[in-house]
Amino acid sequence: MKTTPAATKSASTPPAKTATKTATKTASRTTATSRARTTKLAETLRVKDDESPWSVEEIKEVRGILLDEIETHRVELKLAEDELDDLLRASGDGAGDDQADAGAKTAERAHEISVAANARASLLQAEHALEQLDAGTYGICENCGNPIGKLRLQARPRATLCMTCQEKQDRH
Ligand SMILES: [Zn+2]
Repeated sequence: MKTTPAATKSASTPPAKTATKTATKTASRTTATSRARTTKLAETLRVKDDESPWSVEEIKEVRGILLDEIETHRVELKLAEDELDDLLRASGDGAGDDQADAGAKTAERAHEISVAANARASLLQAEHALEQLDAGTYGICENCGNPIGKLRLQARPRATLCMTCQEKQDRH
């Protein structure tokens, strides 16, 4: 266990910071609870036969990536939807457009629709993976029921298929 400079720090902290200190205490209690839960998860999650079990740190890392992805795709989706709103609103006053303008606008709209659809799909995948992680059912191939494998999940945390099933699907 490494020693933290917390004691030294709090000694020099002015008494006005008591509220902050209490908040920190509550936060660390939550972390302790989630750590116990994560330890349990580490024992529950399945891996391939030749892989070592998940460690608490590895689970934390994957959860962090999923949370980041969820945040990123939420922003992406919002931006694309806002952009689409603007395009749709602008299409109302396009009476003077020539054909090239109208074509460009249609292409732009199609592009934003596909950006939004991709962002939504990725967002749902990441949210689904996070739910499964918390439920302890994370990392099972949705097609064949075998473990997806820790290595693959670390590279692609929101994978829902094992490598074999993914390759089969990609070929279709
Ligand atoms: Zn599979």
